[in-house]
Amino acid sequence: MNRARLLIFNAALGPLDYRVPDGMVVEPGSVVVAPLGPRQIVGIVWEEDRLPTQSVPDSKLRPLLATLPVPPLKAELRRLIEWTADYYCASLASVARMVLSSGGALRGPATTIEYRLSGGMPERLTPQRLAAIEALEGEQATIRELSGIAGVSEGVLRGLVNQGVLEPVEVDCDRPYQLVDPGFAEPELSDDQREVADRFVAAVEERKFAPFLLDGVTGSGKTETYFEAIARSLRNGQQTLVLLPEIALTEAFLRRFEDRFGAPPIVWHSSLKSTERRRAWRAIAAGTAQVVVGARSALFLPYANLGLVVVDEAHEVSFKQDDGVRYNARDVAVMRARFEGIPVILASATPALESLQMAQSGIYEKLVLPARFGGAELPSIDTINLTEEKPERGRWISPRLVEALKDRLAKGEQSLLFLNRRGYAPLTLCRHCGFRFQCPNCSAWLVEHRLSRRLACHHCGHETVPPEACPECGEPDCLVACGPGVERIAHEVEEILPEARLAIVTSDTLNSPEKAAQFIAEAEAGAIDVIVGTQLVTKGFHFPELTLVGVVDADLGLEGGDLRAAERTYQQVAQVAGRAGRGAKPGEVFIQTRHPEASVIAALAAGDRDAFYEAETEARRHAGAPPFGRWAAIIVSSEDESEAREAANRIGATRPNLEDVMILGPAPAPLSMLRGRYRYRLLLNARRSAEVQQVIRDWLGALSFPQGVRVAVDIDPYSFV
Ligand code: ADP
Ligand code: ZN
Repeated sequence: MNRARLLIFNAALGPLDYRVPDGMVVEPGSVVVAPLGPRQIVGIVWEEDRLPTQSVPDSKLRPLLATLPVPPLKAELRRLIEWTADYYCASLASVARMVLSSGGALRGPATTIEYRLSGGMPERLTPQRLAAIEALEGEQATIRELSGIAGVSEGVLRGLVNQGVLEPVEVDCDRPYQLVDPGFAEPELSDDQREVADRFVAAVEERKFAPFLLDGVTGSGKTETYFEAIARSLRNGQQTLVLLPEIALTEAFLRRFEDRFGAPPIVWHSSLKSTERRRAWRAIAAGTAQVVVGARSALFLPYANLGLVVVDEAHEVSFKQDDGVRYNARDVAVMRARFEGIPVILASATPALESLQMAQSGIYEKLVLPARFGGAELPSIDTINLTEEKPERGRWISPRLVEALKDRLAKGEQSLLFLNRRGYAPLTLCRHCGFRFQCPNCSAWLVEHRLSRRLACHHCGHETVPPEACPECGEPDCLVACGPGVERIAHEVEEILPEARLAIVTSDTLNSPEKAAQFIAEAEAGAIDVIVGTQLVTKGFHFPELTLVGVVDADLGLEGGDLRAAERTYQQVAQVAGRAGRGAKPGEVFIQTRHPEASVIAALAAGDRDAFYEAETEARRHAGAPPFGRWAAIIVSSEDESEAREAANRIGATRPNLEDVMILGPAPAPLSMLRGRYRYRLLLNARRSAEVQQVIRDWLGALSFPQGVRVAVDIDPYSFV
């Protein structure tokens, strides 16, 4: 009899066996519909020997209902799913769900109705209708989308449909994307770039697994070199995946890509509309999507014919997912390339220590771009010791940086102030009674956002309107903002330079592709004098007139218990410094700090990257930290404090006693409450020889917990809160 074993999207149930009815053909990777009780579920046919489960006799099997009209998932992708689940101690189901991430795509070919102007005019031309008609010139979309474009209600547009002013058009949901052309605008590469690009092109040509670390200073033209690799992959008829750490960066990338290849790539991220998601998914699976640029979730899509993977800004922390499957997209990208047998390029000006170590041990091939493109100089970097050069009372910008800002404004050049903190102030308290505004769901202060007039929790999204009086003692007008956020720095700039044109750049202000595009256009056109921003402005942007960068508080990232704090500070400051002096005029960087003697600050000021990496490498080696040892975290949470504590203690009490794994905790997490859940943590520090995932699976697998307790495993954690 013909049987099939299914991986289904319910981790609690495990794999299930079914009968393949006569006339139905399935193979491993086929996406099928099967009955489960009274319901229908979607599953993926899997190799039986790779997915052990209790055998069910033939007579008990229910028949599969249908195969879905999508290509079977390739063996390479199935192996990636297995590897990811195994490495990150996640269920196969939760990883597979990231692959089948478009419900619409699974339903097969479809059409939809869109509307466009017919050229006719309505009987009664109200001002609102006229405005809508003007706004919709050349547009074609669904009524809902058109309503967004025209800024009028859907009702108004339906009225126009009834009057024949808007006409329906049937469109294919899977209409092909514009083709990109590898020969559209070939650049002239510098000798350094040419050498690197040639190496990439040869690797793409060879079609073998080849991991590269592209280590090039900011502004060295890394993008142009991997564009040559993409061109080669295109000429081979293969697909390319480019991972970017931040959607906000995509805008600038898209434009550059289009300049080089004559058409935009296909974009993939979590906030795509469902119709775009389905179209992209199906084009990717069909092999017609030539180049996909996306956030980390693009990694698990079912590429038909992948030829190259690029991870840009590969050191970025945001490649690590911190909920659900806690994977690191940078590392999974390398595994994907390995299973596919193709090259992968990790590009960065400040590579992660882990990546450098892989290069040092010969596993990654390191390629270096040592100088900026076109002869631009790297900026000069100076520290400002805040304990000596004090800002005025109630201010955060020291006199020397104030002078530099004035100087740039007078010369018509741009400045950038970096502070990695959104909002106006991180803490609000009552001057009268000392009351502090705290999130009701998290152990965190509420951050004041003055532009949007709210107090917000940056962990759970809780918001309130700031009250007139203290909620504790009732005293009016007694609330004070403590500490700076970017809005407060911007306010300070307004006072220092009243005539300067300011832009605040954070995820609050650049929250859509349109706003990102507008910001870039204004900055490039010289319509902005001073940019004040969070880590969002540290990378990717290229503004030739930007000649001054001020790091408002370099010590911020060094506080707290983050085990990568020094490395992250180094990367952030080096990246933001890299925005200065990218054009013809030289750049200058000031780092404000209370600890100029700290080794990371000293290394930044001296421009001595090697010294920093060497010192940090030694410290990590000594501590048995990555890449020399391994970390893993176990996070226990519950809405009930005692339940969380008891579960954590039970895990602690049954800890295995192993020579090569040190287990710390349980202890209350630094963020001891998050979204209404109390949290405890254990931290494992393992030698590389230890099978830490197996240890954790055996250990936790022997325990069971009350319903309300969640136990999450974080392999190679980046977050320690
Ligand atoms: P990186 O990513 O290494 O910081 P970019 O790739 O952004 O550097 O390059 C810096 C600037 O130099 C960009 O404006 C880019 O367009 C330009 N550039 C780099 N290489 C070339 C080239 N071969 N020809 C023309 N312009 C180039
Ligand atoms: Zn909260």
